[in-house]
Amino acid sequence: MSANNQMSFHVLQRLNLRLLILSLALLSVLITLGNSFCATYQVQRDLLINNTLEANRAYSAKLAKDTDNFFAVAQSQLQYSADLIAAHMDDESYLQTEATRLHKQNALFDSVFIVNADATIVAASPSVLNLKGRQLSTPDAIEAFHAQKPIISNPFISPVGNYLISISHPIFSADGHYLGYVAGTIYLQENGILGNLLGQHYYQDGTYVYVVDQSGVLLYHQDPNRIGEKVTVNGFLQAVIKQQSGEAEITNSRGIDMLAGYAPIARTGWSVVAQRPKAVTLTKLEEQIQVFSVKTLPLTLITLVFIWVSALLIARPLKELANNARVLDQKQAQDRIQSISSWYFESALLKSAILKGVGLLNEKISRLQADSHTDPMTGLYNRRGMQKVLDYYQDVKQDFAVISLDIDHFKQINDRYGHDVGDQVIQSLAQLMRHNSRKDDALCRSGGEEFLIFLPNTTVEIAERIAERLRQNVAQHKMTERFCITISLGVVQCQIDTTSPKDALKFADNALYQAKRNGRNQVVKAA
Ligand code: GH3
Ligand code: MG
Ligand code: MG
Repeated sequence: MSANNQMSFHVLQRLNLRLLILSLALLSVLITLGNSFCATYQVQRDLLINNTLEANRAYSAKLAKDTDNFFAVAQSQLQYSADLIAAHMDDESYLQTEATRLHKQNALFDSVFIVNADATIVAASPSVLNLKGRQLSTPDAIEAFHAQKPIISNPFISPVGNYLISISHPIFSADGHYLGYVAGTIYLQENGILGNLLGQHYYQDGTYVYVVDQSGVLLYHQDPNRIGEKVTVNGFLQAVIKQQSGEAEITNSRGIDMLAGYAPIARTGWSVVAQRPKAVTLTKLEEQIQVFSVKTLPLTLITLVFIWVSALLIARPLKELANNARVLDQKQAQDRIQSISSWYFESALLKSAILKGVGLLNEKISRLQADSHTDPMTGLYNRRGMQKVLDYYQDVKQDFAVISLDIDHFKQINDRYGHDVGDQVIQSLAQLMRHNSRKDDALCRSGGEEFLIFLPNTTVEIAERIAERLRQNVAQHKMTERFCITISLGVVQCQIDTTSPKDALKFADNALYQAKRNGRNQVVKAA
């Protein structure tokens, strides 16, 4: 690999300005975009979670209040019934009618029964339960019997196998004797009244409601199989036991993250919990973010295209300047640099600096070239300059005539007037030659006091006439204003297709020698 190739290889290996600007701009766009996406996501996520927690808290509070109201109504119904039947405890059909009315009239209870002072069920509805005549046996029923006050029981399994709670109210005679109690039950399993109360508000968005007692046992759940199960989620259980209301992010017994709100039912000490899976809540957000990104996409693309075009426009003048600066030695570099549109300040400054540099360089090169092609004493071409002229004629197939001339008896001039005067004579002759030549003629000092004149597109006859005119001018001119000299000239034509310039020069010299031999101070045309 040559040194030059190696250098361009290294240049290629480096990043170019356009790539740099592009990557920088791309990086900033992507970081800004990513940042705004993250920030938006974070803010929206927190907002959604807080809103959901707050909604569930409010929802559980409302359900707790509704349920509490329901128990209040149930208790006042039982109290009203207890007052009514106190005077009819011996009338079985009255008691049965009242039990049936209580059960059927308002659909507050799943079953109703009346217990007498012997702790025996004396009336019950519905009759299919076959409770009538039974002695109280479950601890809760016996506790309610002995309490002699309104009680809402803990959940228990009835003798006929239902999982339920009972709400009871004592019956007292007018004179204050305890006569037993009237109780309504609410089934916790199947489609009981509690389910109707809580489940009717069940949302379609994944939110569901459950009720736990103070020990954390599920009293109501949308999945009936879980009723009676003890909830093992810690998090908020302490708050439930303490009858507090609030909201919490919890993980349920199946390991699913939930956003929960909870509130106590004052009359029972239970708590209503409304919760929604966190993932369901955030799915919406992810959809929103997708919509957001789709909506920002066109503007992002336009921005990227804008950046790309800008990078191109900014980098272009510098790239072109750099490319041309690498080949300043090429002829057209200056024109190419001139045509680069440098539309911003720094590139314009660079362009003018490079142009100035190129100008100076070209000036120096042409001066050096001129020096090496010029004879310093006369300012005419030297032999190297002459060779250039001949090469050019050959290249462009230019026909020309040649006049070869030599000062007569120059040695004697040197001898008589000195070498310096000899030099002045040579310079004066060069001056005369210039005066006698046309713009396209090339004048050359080929040796000490020997000269050549090249006349492009000139016939030998015209060249002969020009030579003769020059001879006469020289002969009449007083050199250094003291003496005249004469010159001998040989003339020849060179038709480039048939004669080589080298042969033409030889023929011209031959003619010149012929002129010398013929007696000097004359023009001889080559034969
Ligand atoms: P002719 O050409 O008529 O035969 O006679 P000549 O005396 O001119 O003969 P020749 O060409 O042999 O001599 C040329 C002389 O020119 C020899 C040399 O001393 C002198 N000469 C050559 N170059 C220079 C120069 O640059 N300056 C001066 N002063 N003299 C030079
Ligand atoms: Mg000579
Ligand atoms: Mg001579």
